[in-house]
Amino acid sequence: MTYAYDDQNIFAKILRAEIPNDTVLETEHSLAFNDIQPQAPVHVLVIPKGPYVCYDHFAQTASDAEIADYTRAIGEVCKLKGLDQDGFRLISNAGDHGVQEVPHLHVHILAGRPLGRMLQKA
Ligand code: AMP
Repeated sequence: MTYAYDDQNIFAKILRAEIPNDTVLETEHSLAFNDIQPQAPVHVLVIPKGPYVCYDHFAQTASDAEIADYTRAIGEVCKLKGLDQDGFRLISNAGDHGVQEVPHLHVHILAGRPLGRMLQKA
């Protein structure tokens, strides 16, 4: 599968510091920041700094160093937010069926209240 990365997406602009973000954590290859429209008391987005459209694009083509950094960054945010007590949910939307709005890989970390079932019936 091939993905075309659009470098005008809003997260690319955040990475170029063209628009601000509320940073939670920054590492060599990853950035975590608070979602601008939080859906839960904790709603952090974690993105790789590289130009990856979605999770499978990243998992198939990123370097081992980027993948390790990204995975560790997600774990570090969970630790910073104390999510080992009451739990959390990771979501990574992709494409049309996944209803992905921003075409730069991001994981949503949601926590801070009971989140309900994973999916609503269509
Ligand atoms: P998705 O539907 O998975 O692509 O989610 C995109 C997320 O990005 C949504 O939860 C938005 O609220 C969030 N978002 C959009 N623009 C910004 C921004 N400038 N800063 C932080 N979060 C944003």
